Parts: sequence; structure tokens; C-alpha cells
Amino acid sequence: MKFIPVLLLLVSSAVIAAERSEGVLIYEVGDTEDRSMSYENFYLQTKDSLIPLNASQAFKERMPLHAWSGKQISVTFKDTVALSGNQRDILAIELLEGESLRGGGVSGSQKWISLLCKFSDKPAEQENLTYFQEMYANDPAGLDHYWREVSYNEVNVAGSIAVDWVDLPSPQSSYIPNPGSGNSSSILGPLFEDCTAAADPFVDFTDGYVGINMMFNDSLNCCAWGGGRSASLDGQSQFWRVTWNPPWAFANAAVIAHEMGHGMGLPHTNNSDEDDNPYDNHWDVMSAATGSAVNDSVYGRLGKHINMYHKYRLGWVDDVDGYTVQPDDDLIKRINWTALTTTANEKFIRIPLSDGSSYFIEARQESGQYESNLAGTAVIIHHVVSGRSEPAWVVDADNPPANTANTEGVMWKPGETFVDPIDGYQVEIIEQVTNGFRVRLTGISDIIFRNGFQ
Ligand SMILES: [Zn+2]
Repeated sequence: MKFIPVLLLLVSSAVIAAERSEGVLIYEVGDTEDRSMSYENFYLQTKDSLIPLNASQAFKERMPLHAWSGKQISVTFKDTVALSGNQRDILAIELLEGESLRGGGVSGSQKWISLLCKFSDKPAEQENLTYFQEMYANDPAGLDHYWREVSYNEVNVAGSIAVDWVDLPSPQSSYIPNPGSGNSSSILGPLFEDCTAAADPFVDFTDGYVGINMMFNDSLNCCAWGGGRSASLDGQSQFWRVTWNPPWAFANAAVIAHEMGHGMGLPHTNNSDEDDNPYDNHWDVMSAATGSAVNDSVYGRLGKHINMYHKYRLGWVDDVDGYTVQPDDDLIKRINWTALTTTANEKFIRIPLSDGSSYFIEARQESGQYESNLAGTAVIIHHVVSGRSEPAWVVDADNPPANTANTEGVMWKPGETFVDPIDGYQVEIIEQVTNGFRVRLTGISDIIFRNGFQ
């Protein structure tokens, strides 16, 4: 009798060896309240299971997986048996549905629904229904207003609703053995299933929603989480953008915006200090969500803009909205404030580099509904390596870079010149003008000429 389990294992291994499986790519990110750690997970969700993918760093560098969040994919597994934690090594991955220009585009009506779910042993209701409903308002501080501004009206969340508190069937401890600690995302499935089921009598999930913000009345594990799930709700089968939020998360609209960003497939943005903390860039809601953020008396810290590379990836700006530097350029351009919706000038400058990376250059003004608490008014430059966990890192002139990128080193101001260390492009900040900055862009043809004919 002892040998039977072994034989079964061998049989199942043989079947797994040739396995190629199709499903939806799930990308999930966990954010700790103290912003000391983040967790990033990839899954293949099939009809029957959620398979953790062990996407090695080298693999991710060739294939920026987060841009495919929620998309139908085919995975060929490299391993014959699962690794620890049931993880599977990927041999190949293929996108099965049409890819937008850069992958992961988000446009048009984006209706979300907030579900307020109470653990059966926790009576507290930190905020009431009106708070959650008005969080979506198209008024300053409301998420509809916010996403319209940040996306240049490419997306809106009009029609989003909140549903009043409902009771989960089980106590907190049954979902989360150690509230406030532990980084496993295995808690997320049962919370999603029970919270959507508890709210189901009061919700018509067929009404065109793209996402679900779940608000819980006590701690989850380490984190607030943003990601997604493929699920059938009220018979509506689709990929749902999903966030899982403990009270500290929904106390700040900026944190909800950050988690919704993960739900849209956005990774973190980072500074350049190369520590493990991706929350130290104060120029992007997808990094330090609450850092240098405007404070609202009701909704706490409000989201600031996301960096221009992510807007480019989502399709909120395109090449025609900015200027792409050519090697033989020597010219002057005006970049308008990031927050300006309409502009006759450039929204951004992009410099493609010989190693495949690029710079995205934008003008940020310490002003306006969402940006008036920024560290300053300056040109901000992100270096983008599309395949790393945080593709966009803010460039810092200081060496070593500051721990927190809210310093003069990351703010390029009139009289300063950024000299690109990779190819030698130069960006000179000439002057501040009414709607932004004038910059001189100098290409590398002269440098190539000099090097080639010495
Ligand atoms: Zn995050």
C-alpha cells in the first residue's frame, strides 16, 4: 500500500511534463502599511485552478508580464513537477488575444463597484456608505475627477457605485490567521469569493463593471492588494480588476487609486537608490502614494499623477502628444505641466536609447488639485527599462541617490543640464514659462562623429 501514492505521483508527473496550459494572467501586488515591503505575484488562472508562476527575473526582463495582466495567455511549463508553494517554472508564454500598441491599454468607461465586507466577528464600520459612494465623485478629491485628469479624459469611472456593508460568513481568523502579518496572497481568493457572494443580493454584476474595490473592516495580512480575478458573477464571466483594502487603505483616496492602478496592470514606480523599497518616488501615485500628496479633510491623501511612461503604456498619451528625440537633434522644445489636459506644446519628451531603455521627461508643477504638495516645480526624468519589476526609476543627480526622491537631485531646474550616461544625450533646462519649461535637447550625432573619426 505504501507505494500507491508514489505511483500516482509518477503518473501525474508524466502528464505534467508536456503540459501547456491556457488561461488568464493574474498579476497581484501587495503593499504594506508601513511601506517597507511590497510583494509581487504572477498566476495563470485556468478554469479549475490558480497556478503560481515562477517567472525568473531574466524571463521578466524579456517579457514585461504585468502589461499582460488580465489577458488570455498560453503557458508552456518548464518543470515536470511543481516547485515549493506549488509554483511552476515557465518555459514559454504567449499572448492569445490582441495586444494594443504597447500592451495593457485602458480607455473609456471604467465602472468600478465598492463592496464593503465585515468579518463576522468584527462589527466596526469605519466609514459609511456615503463616504464610499462619494469617493467616486466627479468633484475635486473624487476618483472620477482624479482619473479623468490623470488620463487626459481617456478614462472615467462615472457610474461607479458602492454597496452598503454586508457580513462575511466567517470570522477574520478563518480568512487571515495572523492579521497584519504574513505575505501570502492565498488569502485573496476566499475573500473575493465570500465578499462578492455576500454582496450579490444587492448588486447586478452584469451592469458593465470592470473592477471591484473590496473594503474590509479590519486588517488583512501584510498588505493592501491590487490585482484581478477571472470569475463569473451573476453569470457575467470576465476578468475583474480587483483590490483588497483594509481600513488604513480606504482612509486615503491615494491608496485606493494606487491599488486600482495595480488592478489596471500597473507595477510600482521607483527611485534610483536600488534598495528594496519601491515607495520612495514622490512623483508618482504608483510609488509613494501618500508622499508629497495633497491632503483632503474627508479622503485623506489624494492621488498625484502617474509618471508619463505609464500613461504612454496605458494609451493615455501617444507619440503625437510628445516629442521623440532623434540622434542628430539640437533643438528647443516646450514641455507643458503634466496636469494640463490640453496643450499646444509637448506633454513629454521621450529619448530612446541604444540599449533598448528610454527616458521619459515631464514637467511637474507644485500646483493644482492633485500636485500642489509636490516637493517642487521641476523637470522630472524617469529612466525606463520595460522588463524590470519597477520599469520607471526617477533619475537622481546625486550620488548616491537620495533614499527618498523628493530632493533637489531629482528636480531638474533652469540652468541645469542632464547628461545621459548611456548614450550621451543632453537635456538642458533653459527657463520656466507660463505652462511649463523650455528645454534644449541635444542628440548624439556629434559624439558618434567624434568617436568614429578620431
Ligand atoms: Zn503597490
